[in-house]
Amino acid sequence: MAFNPFEMAQKQFDRVADQLNLSSSIRALLREPMREYAFTLPIRMDDGSMRVFKGYRVQHNDGRGPCKGGIRFAPNETIDTVRALATWMTWKCAVVDIPLGGGKGGIDCDTHELSMTEQERLCRAWVRALSSEVGPVQDVPAPDMNTRGYHMIWMLDEYEAIHRGKFPGFITGKPVGSGGSLGRTEATGYGVICTLNEACKTLGIDITKTRASIQGFGNVAYYACERYLKLGGKLICVSCWDNADKKSYCFKRESGVDIVELKKITNEHGEIDKVAAKGLGYEILPGDAWLEQDVDILVPAALENQINAETVNKIGKNVKIIAEGANGPTTPEADEVIKARGIYVIPDFLCNAGGVTCSYFEQVQCNMNYFWEKDEVLSKLDQKMSAAYHAVHQMHVDKGVYMRDAAYMIAIDRVAKACVARGWAMN
Ligand code: GLU
Repeated sequence: MAFNPFEMAQKQFDRVADQLNLSSSIRALLREPMREYAFTLPIRMDDGSMRVFKGYRVQHNDGRGPCKGGIRFAPNETIDTVRALATWMTWKCAVVDIPLGGGKGGIDCDTHELSMTEQERLCRAWVRALSSEVGPVQDVPAPDMNTRGYHMIWMLDEYEAIHRGKFPGFITGKPVGSGGSLGRTEATGYGVICTLNEACKTLGIDITKTRASIQGFGNVAYYACERYLKLGGKLICVSCWDNADKKSYCFKRESGVDIVELKKITNEHGEIDKVAAKGLGYEILPGDAWLEQDVDILVPAALENQINAETVNKIGKNVKIIAEGANGPTTPEADEVIKARGIYVIPDFLCNAGGVTCSYFEQVQCNMNYFWEKDEVLSKLDQKMSAAYHAVHQMHVDKGVYMRDAAYMIAIDRVAKACVARGWAMN
């Protein structure tokens, strides 16, 4: 059966809803998105032809504030993937206690096949399709897979042209100098390592004596690697997608991965040149090899459904911590195996919440029209992430529950309270 991320998100929710004894009205409200949009985007291509793309936006819940979440440019994007990701955004904003709800958007497209001008037209068309459904006080998009600052500024420009004014709070992840926040690009990866560092301290593990293997080499993975190396850890393996071969590969070097050196041989789609990497002494291994390494720490920082019933038994025997940089990397079946092995998991919507936390800081700075120094942004980010991590760990200890369930308990409780207070559900 094909993997369905939304079924997985609902399964995770139902489990914790049972443990929390949630009322039927709260369950009915929170296990479905409040609103969802699916639409076509006819685009004039550079060669004069027309192509029709599918666009999506799902607003899962806005009980605690405007919906918030990125827009993915993903081949074969489906409404169910966007639903799952929107749901996880609700829990993500709640677990770090920022006044935002959850949303997510997507366009079914492959950026390998699109020029910059075609991508610009797609961005503008997406905003036109949703111009009255999104906005600073309704639903605030941001970058995600295959979208960056320049996509955000095209979207903002289109939104401002329609609404005739300046609305920098419409979108986050904007370039610095165009309403963006310093530190936003690094924030997700740095946040992952902030929670990992706190976890090491809690578990009595000396991070400088650890070895890690990371899946991915995109924005989240890169800055996670950077921060982990700065803290003195040893990075053994990273991985990336290879579009020509339509599969991913791992790049392993026992003496340590040098991310700056690898970045120099990485193209604009995030693909590392295999021949050049071999020349630098890296072993090129199959896509799942990152799981099998003799390491203490695994960081899935690529896609959903990577640690599943088929792959979970590949996890190396010395792994102590899994820090989930990606959204939904681990399926409920794999969770059972991880739990039985006693591996400590920092669950995705806690671990990778640094991006949206910094997006919130970006909104705050835009609203004040006063921008902070990078150190100030990053120290506020650290505070938020550490506080959220310790609250979840404490819940895990107090209730004797799996870390993912502990994070869900905190997040669901906050969202449920806000919805009950508004009269949307009953206790
Ligand atoms: N796309 C990021 C995420 O999955 C960031 C969302 C945001 O900044 O709104 O958390």
